[in-house]
Amino acid sequence: MQPTLITHNETETETLGAALGQLMQPGDVLALVGDLGAGKTCLTRGVARGLGIDEPVTSPTFILVAEYTTARGFPLYHADCYRLERAAAEAQAIGLDDLLLDDGVAVVEWAERIESLLPADHLRITLAVLDDTRRQLIFEPHGPRAAQLVQQLPGEYSIVNVQL
Ligand code: ADP
Ligand code: MG
Repeated sequence: MQPTLITHNETETETLGAALGQLMQPGDVLALVGDLGAGKTCLTRGVARGLGIDEPVTSPTFILVAEYTTARGFPLYHADCYRLERAAAEAQAIGLDDLLLDDGVAVVEWAERIESLLPADHLRITLAVLDDTRRQLIFEPHGPRAAQLVQQLPGEYSIVNVQL
């Protein structure tokens, strides 16, 4: 069984993101997959909040990567690969591959487009629209650090009870 969560509104998705953000450590990468409107930016906004970032977080679709300084001193890189034409090559050209190996944490929207640049250990979250207000989030930890991150989530997230 896939470790799955359903959120019922934007606030729940953001709160889940904040729970993840609080647990994230330098080197952690969240790879977000899902159509437009699935809630990737909403989840990222929560991650930023959990990392103590007060600045507004918007989708970096036109700038590709936004950088924020977390309350803990390391950067959060928020990348959006939607507009990359030859995604992996262009991401490499703008140095995204280096950022993913940097001392910061990273959240990548449309991560499947730069699959080959993702570090071996990353947490993939696939978001799907169920209806107007419900979103399904499937967690797939790739590597031990990502599995630990999921296991550390607070008890109200039932995925902690699912075998990873
Ligand atoms: P993406 O970055 O995947 O394109 P956004 O986070 O920018 O998606 O937008 C998600 C949209 O879906 C927003 O308009 C938000 O209000 C709406 N929405 C409705 N229900 C939810 C939910 N449960 N979680 C997140 N967003 C939701
Ligand atoms: Mg987005």
